[in-house]
Amino acid sequence: MKGNSVGFVPTMGALHDGHMSLVRSSLRMNDKTLVSIFVNPSQFAPNEDLASYPRGFDADIAMLAEMRYLPSAAPSRVASPESSSSLSSSAVAETQVDAVFAPTVEEMYPSGIPLEVEAQRGAFVTVEGLSSQLEGAMRPQFFRGVATVITKFLNIIQPERVYFGQKDVQQTVVVKRLVSDLCYGCVVIVVPTTRAANGLALSSRNAYLTDQVREDAAVIYRGLQHAVDTYRTETDAKKIIAAVVDSITEKFAAEDIEYVCVNDLETLEELENVHPLKGAILSLAVRVPNSFGTKTRLIDNVIL
Ligand code: AMP
Repeated sequence: MKGNSVGFVPTMGALHDGHMSLVRSSLRMNDKTLVSIFVNPSQFAPNEDLASYPRGFDADIAMLAEMRYLPSAAPSRVASPESSSSLSSSAVAETQVDAVFAPTVEEMYPSGIPLEVEAQRGAFVTVEGLSSQLEGAMRPQFFRGVATVITKFLNIIQPERVYFGQKDVQQTVVVKRLVSDLCYGCVVIVVPTTRAANGLALSSRNAYLTDQVREDAAVIYRGLQHAVDTYRTETDAKKIIAAVVDSITEKFAAEDIEYVCVNDLETLEELENVHPLKGAILSLAVRVPNSFGTKTRLIDNVIL
């Protein structure tokens, strides 16, 4: 719908450049951009970090308010009757985020939202077949929480396009299936992972890490890159996975690697061999020491 298309970027706040690249994509593709900031309780298990999850509402709003997108990086010159080289003011018009949606927990969960699934009441959404492996194996209620909150958001906002980061690859697979199976008319746009200079995928939870661990965590992306190199001559998943594990164990304990897995891009079926015409997801989770003396899970992935 020319003139009124709405792009929607769901976030849990503590915004960083990764979120901003989703926002930039939406500004580029839509007439209006709406960003939500909502730390969604239903995707956290009772033993997870809901209470301590990084929050910085004022800084988030400031970051979004400062965000400008220039549709044409190189201002185009347009022919006009007065001058054949005058700059078009409309060609360089900046666009900005139009609205932030930051509901309260009570607004999103009017029946209340205890973190124990058994105690929860009301409507929840599950995407069967895609929610129990990989991240779902470690976090059994996570994708039910994500699918539920995204369903509510899509019903409230009714965007033309909704933006997700490649960084949370399983989430993109779950949401695409949700949108298609529940007949939402919107398009799911997946935006590449934004990384720090050393390759570490940006994440709000990186705030939990010391500088040293952030530096050491470069082995994660380096391992994924080695795996991509391995895949040029090798389709055996075990050998591809070994390239990642070898790199991560240069800095972190093998027992802290929760999984390194090769899966089908749509069904998430675990693969022993990658079909070169189909490709695959190579994804991982690793627990690294944080500044509280406990461990923080980092996730990352590449597409083979
Ligand atoms: P979150 O606030 O962590 O729920 O993330 C909100 C959205 O931003 C999700 O679609 C994430 O996949 C995306 N995102 C988070 N980190 C990155 C990153 N480093 N690069 C690209 N997208 C990201």
